[in-house]
Amino acid sequence: MNIKTNIALDTIAPYVPGKPIDAVKRELGLTDVIKLASNENPLGCSEKAKKAVIQALEQAALYPDSNFTDLRQKLAAQFGLLPTQFFFGAGSDGIIEMIPHAFLNHGDQAVMSATTFPLYQTNTKIAGGQCVIVPLDADYCYDLDAMAAKITPKTKIVWLCNPNNPTGTTYSKAAQEKFLAQVPHDVLVVIDEAYYEYVAQDDFPDSLALLEQYPNIIILRTFSKIYGLASMRIGYAIAHPDIIAALEKVRGPFNVSTLAQVAALASLDDPDFLQHSINHNAQNLQFLVKQFTQMGLKCLPSATNFVMVNTGVDSRVLFPQLLQKGVIVRPGHLYGMDTFLRISVGTLSECQTCVQALQDCLAEL
Ligand SMILES: *Cc1c(COP(=O)(O)O)cnc(C)c1O
Repeated sequence: MNIKTNIALDTIAPYVPGKPIDAVKRELGLTDVIKLASNENPLGCSEKAKKAVIQALEQAALYPDSNFTDLRQKLAAQFGLLPTQFFFGAGSDGIIEMIPHAFLNHGDQAVMSATTFPLYQTNTKIAGGQCVIVPLDADYCYDLDAMAAKITPKTKIVWLCNPNNPTGTTYSKAAQEKFLAQVPHDVLVVIDEAYYEYVAQDDFPDSLALLEQYPNIIILRTFSKIYGLASMRIGYAIAHPDIIAALEKVRGPFNVSTLAQVAALASLDDPDFLQHSINHNAQNLQFLVKQFTQMGLKCLPSATNFVMVNTGVDSRVLFPQLLQKGVIVRPGHLYGMDTFLRISVGTLSECQTCVQALQDCLAEL
């Protein structure tokens, strides 16, 4: 093949998605398989969202509303912000893809953590940007001082993820404010809060409240995690209207389907489902951590719907063994944390199955 690709592609690996249940059943000849690999909501989604989607099928022949009129208005009212401060993508992945295209020129730098959501690196490189990588601290938390120290006149973007995926760890409100005060105002700070709704701690940043003081921040949220709409592909960003206006120039006109839009809209009308999901997750996360701790394994403190557990065994060895037992998890080696597994919080029965399978695997080694 003589076609030359974008040279950035030489430096990136394709995204490795969590294995789908059906693929594992087929490949390994198993009937019972559970997936605790992609931080999906084990309770599914709101019944209201399902009804809205079925109704909206009547409009399947029509292009979706490219202006997101209803959803934009609803979120603006909910958060007390302007409709022009919202932006929508096919999942927040879709927005993470657009940000470097809107804000980077060739050779510009973006600062990010070494152990975080991999799409920041991938999309920065594709857009011609240089990644400046900063390690986590000894507690597997963001080292915001070290990140601030890496900002140069070439820096255009800083990528933050709070709580962080894959560690589940958070940084505090005070740490974020100290960091933002050090960042030049012409550097865009992306704050990916995909797990925001799960966070219970008091000192977690209220990033929305900082928008006025720091017009250089953009906050990412998604309907894929607690809202249980991962297959629908819809997420949103909140920022100063000028930042949104720049992103609008790189957005494809019909990037989010009608079904996704109505599902998201209806989900916002179901606070009970959200609260139930929060409680269910808190209980089962506690169960997982307790069981792993009793097995003598260390878990990183998680503010999310997943837990990073140190098994002491290379995840390249443990991952296929767990697959054989019908349990799909996320191997830590994908994130440079070789002896860890990232395990999503499932139903209690799924968590029990996972604990048992891990116990059996470790005993067989
Ligand atoms: C899951 C996740 C996303 C994006 O999910 P979408 O389905 O594309 O909305 C973004 N950031 C982080 C950190 C995630 O874990």
